[in-house]
Amino acid sequence: MDRIEKRIIEIIDQNKDKLLAFAEEGYRTAEGGFEEFKTAARVAGLFKELGLEVRENIAVTGVEAQVGSGEGPCVAVIGELDGILCPAHPFSNAETNGYSHACGHHAQINALVGAAIALADSEVAASLGGKVKLMAVPAEEFVSVAKRKKLMAEGKIKRCSGKSEMLCNGDFDDVDMALTTHVHMAPSESDLLLGNVSSNGTITKVVTIHGKAAHAAAAPHEGINALSAASLALSAIGLLRETFRDEDGVRIHTNIVRGGDVLNVVPDTIVVDGMIRANNLTALEAASAAFDRAFEGCAHAIGAKADVESWQGYMPVIYQPTDDALRLAAEAVNADGSLWIQEATALQKNAASTDVGDLSHVMPIVNFTHGGVKGALHSSDFEVVDEEKALIIPAKMFALSVYHLLKNNAELAKQEIAEYKPVFTKQGYKEYVATFK
Ligand SMILES: [Zn+2]
Repeated sequence: MDRIEKRIIEIIDQNKDKLLAFAEEGYRTAEGGFEEFKTAARVAGLFKELGLEVRENIAVTGVEAQVGSGEGPCVAVIGELDGILCPAHPFSNAETNGYSHACGHHAQINALVGAAIALADSEVAASLGGKVKLMAVPAEEFVSVAKRKKLMAEGKIKRCSGKSEMLCNGDFDDVDMALTTHVHMAPSESDLLLGNVSSNGTITKVVTIHGKAAHAAAAPHEGINALSAASLALSAIGLLRETFRDEDGVRIHTNIVRGGDVLNVVPDTIVVDGMIRANNLTALEAASAAFDRAFEGCAHAIGAKADVESWQGYMPVIYQPTDDALRLAAEAVNADGSLWIQEATALQKNAASTDVGDLSHVMPIVNFTHGGVKGALHSSDFEVVDEEKALIIPAKMFALSVYHLLKNNAELAKQEIAEYKPVFTKQGYKEYVATFK
């Protein structure tokens, strides 16, 4: 270990009690996406204590501070602010009607503030040949769509997820690469999983089928049964499933959210929600088009009409193997050899989804996931069981990875940025998502 690596580890160890107290408070005070005002204020307060200039209310609740300067690359370190609604969780927040950190985002925020404490140290900051943007970002979880539609109607947001909103607002325009973390999302018993496992992207659908009401017994010939059109479309989607390739990981979930109103009237308005998932954008678009065809074609067959709204949810996460920054950081945190460290492979897949996928289409992502927790994500039995592994080591991993990317005049960061081939330019991303609702 060199002098700066030792200094980073020493600073985070010296601040361990403060970090654990910060995490404990966060664990008990979870808030919903775009409503994380108190969590954001706590992060901003800590950044200000470090003497950093802070930008607040980014995409409603986001917080940002900067360390380092100069002409070098800009590396973002990202922590997600929001909780998930899970009232049954023992640490759910009664003030927010049951939000909890059953997805471990409080651990991410702790990793972010722990890394900030180390990186703001004058000796550490002086070793960095570039800028570090410390970013607490809102609304990773794609939930409460009705509330988000209201925020859209009020002109407060344009997109349903925080990173997508920030990408569209230009908050990532000066960022060249990003560091992210999470508790393990793909199944892993290890303490650290280095690299970014691919995950599914999503497109959400709201289908309204318009038929014609009539007396169901006396005059069914005068009606157009919208429920029959929905049934036919759901059957068509079932038949289409054999056409999806296993390697694309396509999933389609549907839910009839408005059925017929009364039994003796031919149903004239049916609303079906759907979610399409796939692990690459091409398959996602193809499955989305198949879904639309099924509803539009089957409605036509019955004489009804289907209006399909498409909401771009998350893009798939593009797999990114372990880089040297992560490997060197992991070596430093595991100097005594007590940790079980694995590297992600292209074969691992995460069926769930995250808006880190959107970022992975425009910039290189240096990601690791960590253990120290048990129980299922988003469930009441999720808990932190090892504070060191869940709350302290991730902070060291963030700060050490930044150091290795930006030391020696940012040699490694520059190489990774040059080698990365984005799917979209930042402008191209904005144009692509604008084609959806
Ligand atoms: Zn999460």
